[in-house]
Amino acid sequence: MSQAALINNYGAPPVTFVRGEGAQLWDDQGRRYLDFLCGLAVTGLGHAHPAVTAAVAEQASTLIHTSNLFANELTEEVVETLDRLIRSGPGGDTEPGRILFQNSGAEAVEAAIKLARKHQGHGRHQVITTYGSFHGRTLAALAATGQPEKHEPFQPLPPGFKHVANNDIEALESAIDPSVAAVMLEPIQGEGGVMPATREYLQAARRVCDERGVLLIADEIQTGLGRTGTWFCFQQSGVQPDIVTVAKGLGNGVPVGAVWARTDTAAAFKPGDHGSTFAGQPLALAAARAVLRELQAIDAPTTAQRLGAELQRQITQIDGVANVRGSGLLLGVELLQKPSSRNARDVASACLRRGLVVNGVTATALRLAPPLVLTDQQLSEGCDILATVLKGGSDLSDASNSSSQSIIENDNQVAGSPTR
Ligand SMILES: *Cc1c(COP(=O)(O)O)cnc(C)c1O
Repeated sequence: MSQAALINNYGAPPVTFVRGEGAQLWDDQGRRYLDFLCGLAVTGLGHAHPAVTAAVAEQASTLIHTSNLFANELTEEVVETLDRLIRSGPGGDTEPGRILFQNSGAEAVEAAIKLARKHQGHGRHQVITTYGSFHGRTLAALAATGQPEKHEPFQPLPPGFKHVANNDIEALESAIDPSVAAVMLEPIQGEGGVMPATREYLQAARRVCDERGVLLIADEIQTGLGRTGTWFCFQQSGVQPDIVTVAKGLGNGVPVGAVWARTDTAAAFKPGDHGSTFAGQPLALAAARAVLRELQAIDAPTTAQRLGAELQRQITQIDGVANVRGSGLLLGVELLQKPSSRNARDVASACLRRGLVVNGVTATALRLAPPLVLTDQQLSEGCDILATVLKGGSDLSDASNSSSQSIIENDNQVAGSPTR
C-alpha cells in the first residue's frame, strides 16, 4: 500500500497486517506472526476476541453515538467495575470514586491535570513528574512527559510542570513547594524503557503528598487492567492514588480512556469545566464493558502473573539477555552488550522478519507486552525466535535489507495452521 499521502510522522512501516486472532497476526502476504507487543500494550485480550467483536458489532448496529448531552445505558456497569477494580488493592479506598470517560491516554492525562488544578485552586497549579516518564503527545501531556528532547521542537510548552529523578524521594520532596498541585507517576515507566518505580518510592510519594496536601496521580494507561499482575500496578505498593488515568487496554483496540478520582477530588469538576464530543459514547463503552467482563472472567491479574513468570524464566535463559525487568506481562529485556553490542531496534526488526512482533523500547532493551490469551506453546515459540535472533548476531546489522529471504525462513519456522 502506498504511504505517499500520509504525513511522514511514523517512518516507513515494515509490514502491513491485515488480520489477527488471539496472539497471532497475518500480513498482506499471508505470513504469520506472534504478537508480543499488542499494539503498544492495547490488545490485551488478543486480536478479534469473540466477546469484544460481538459487543462492538451489536452496538454498531444499535447505537454508536449520541453525545454527552444524553445518558447512556452502558455507563453504569463500566463505571461500577472500573471503580471497584481501582479500589480493590490492599489499602484501597472504601468509598467509591468517580469516573470521567476520555478517548485516549493523552486526553485522560489532560483531564487529570485540569482536575488537579481545579481542585487545588489558583496558585497551586504545578505538576511534578519524573525524568523518563511518558504521559502523551498533546501539548500539556508532552510538557508533563519527562523527556526534554521530545519538548525541544515544540517550545514554548504550557508552563506548570517540573521533572525530578525517578525513584528519588528526596528529589521529589524538595521539589514540592506551595505552587505544586500534584505529583504524577507511572508505577512502571512504559515508553521510558519499562523502568519500575520501587514500592518504597511509591509509598513514600503517597506519604509526602499527604503531608504536603498534594494530589497523587497514577498514570496507569500502560500498566493498568491486570497486565502487570494486579488490577492496577500501584496496588503492588499498597497505596491508593487520588487520581488514576486509564486507556490503552480498556477497549482492546477501540479507543477509550478514563480518569478516576476520589469523590472529594472529583467534586472540583462542575458542569462545563471539561468536555469531549466522543468520550464515553455507546460504541466505546460497549467495547470497554466486554473487555472488563472478560478480564474478570479470566482473572487477568493471575493470568498475567503466571504467564509473566514463565516468560521471564524462559527469556532469562536466552544467550544474549543481560536481565529482565518489569512485572507480569510488561517486561523490559536488557540485551547483553558484550562481547558485541546489540541495538534493540535492530533486534526487534530481526525478530519481525522471523515472525515475532516486539519493540526496541530503548537502544539496548526490548519491550514485551504479549496478550493475556497467549498459549504456553506460543510463549515458548516467541522465546525460541528471540533466542535464534540473538544467536545469529550477523543478521542484526542488515535490518534494512530486503526481508524476503528471512521471511521464507520464518514461514518454515512458524507458519502453518493457527495453533489455538
Ligand atoms: C501511551 C501512554 C500515554 C498516552 O496515551 P495515548 O493514547 O497515546 O494518547 C500516556 N501515559 C502513558 C503511561 C502511556 O503509556
